[in-house]
Amino acid sequence: MDMRNQSLDKHLLLQFKSGLREQQRELLHTIENAEKEVQDFSAPVPLDPIDLSCYTASKESLFARASQDRGRLRLIQQALERISDGSFGICAECEGPIGLKRLQALPWAIHCIQCQEKAEVARLAEHLNLDVTLPHSARVSGL
Ligand SMILES: [Zn+2]
Repeated sequence: MDMRNQSLDKHLLLQFKSGLREQQRELLHTIENAEKEVQDFSAPVPLDPIDLSCYTASKESLFARASQDRGRLRLIQQALERISDGSFGICAECEGPIGLKRLQALPWAIHCIQCQEKAEVARLAEHLNLDVTLPHSARVSGL
């Protein structure tokens, strides 16, 4: 399909690829360090309750950060895979091109801005439905 190369030329793809590789390297490094920190955390000396809650909180935030980093790493790896199989920059939903500006801001985006917005509006509508039913029924029972 010729469409695939319409929005992104080889030079740009290489730029994205090296940018993503760079981020991948940095993230791997960060995750490695975080894992070392977690290991250091797992052999605590006896702690009083205040220290213990501090310890638990920082351990949890460490884990949260690590899982966030892992999630991003996965996205970056998927983006690199899409670069090699030629689907990078193509919306997974409508198969239209993802805008270059969007890719530069979010190289791991898999949806074009329209599909992303549609998904967000759908999610918001779901949310609003839940929120709207409550005050409505409250108003009815108030009458
Ligand atoms: Zn789309």
